[in-house]
Amino acid sequence: MTVLVTGGAGYIGSHMVLALLDAGEKVVVVDNLSTGFWWALPPEATLVVGDCGDEELMKRVMAEHGVTAIAHFAARIVVPDSVADPLGYYLANTVKSRALIAAAVAAGVKHFIFSSTAAVYGEPTTIPVPEDLPLDPVSPYGRSKLMTEWMLQDAGRAHGLGYVVLRYFNVAGADPRGRTGQSTPNATHLIKVAAQAALGDRPGMQVYGTDFPTPDGSCLRDYIQVSDLADAHLKALSYLRSGGQSTVLNCGYGRGYSVLEVIDVVKRVSGVDFPVEYAQRRAGDPAAIVAKADRVRAELGWTPQHDNLEEIVDQALRWERSLKTKNVA
Ligand code: UDP
Repeated sequence: MTVLVTGGAGYIGSHMVLALLDAGEKVVVVDNLSTGFWWALPPEATLVVGDCGDEELMKRVMAEHGVTAIAHFAARIVVPDSVADPLGYYLANTVKSRALIAAAVAAGVKHFIFSSTAAVYGEPTTIPVPEDLPLDPVSPYGRSKLMTEWMLQDAGRAHGLGYVVLRYFNVAGADPRGRTGQSTPNATHLIKVAAQAALGDRPGMQVYGTDFPTPDGSCLRDYIQVSDLADAHLKALSYLRSGGQSTVLNCGYGRGYSVLEVIDVVKRVSGVDFPVEYAQRRAGDPAAIVAKADRVRAELGWTPQHDNLEEIVDQALRWERSLKTKNVA
């Protein structure tokens, strides 16, 4: 009964590894360390340094470790990056997922949890966004993930592979016990960037677009705390193990904050009034994405523990400070 976590040395994956180990599960991580860090993993997790797109390696790992479930985090995740390098994204997020799913089918693995994204909705016409809205991703990132959702649906039906697709909204914060966090040195995500600006690690920051059709003109996003998200995965695993049908669930809190509101919270919590410049829109950014978030609670019995932007920002700031003392960033 080992759980294979791809991308387990990365940001969300490392929180999942901790959540699994805290719950007494056995864990094997496959990570090529392209953006993850070996030191983000506790010694109880076995790390195989390799590529989740290497089908033969994946079959071997599944057989050797007695893998019965997979949580697939390994991916490239930056929307503008995907606009510049679409084929790289289709390789990382679609082609490699196909190899992993094929290996899972061959190895007889029955349970698969997939990290999808709110980007599959594109520019949603309804806010909050329900799971059954027609899907129309506007970025190669969103499309690369949607294709994997489709592969899972088809392979799941054909081969008896049960899956839970979790569509993440904006993930932020860090492990409340300070064991892991967002460690990518050139991270582009809003709360990380703002935390770095507050700590003087960058001279300031930019707001990408203030002319969106939103109350203050900046984009609205639904920020979910990363250990709450990991907990949704644990609940998804129990759900599948107890015979739950394959399903697709939004992971968010159902409330939107604007970029300007987030920056205000970071300034307030850090006590630092760092410089902020208003800049052009970034390619591929939808104006507003907020989850309709009741289905994940109803189907998985998930109850968030950290639905508080101040707390999320405080965790991000603490982790950013601890990265400096670790001397690894
Ligand atoms: N954003 C910003 N400045 C930054 C980073 C992000 O204005 O330095 C904005 C970005 O345009 C988007 C929101 O913050 O509207 C969230 O972006 P992020 O990259 O964190 O996540 P995404 O929603 O793209 O997955």
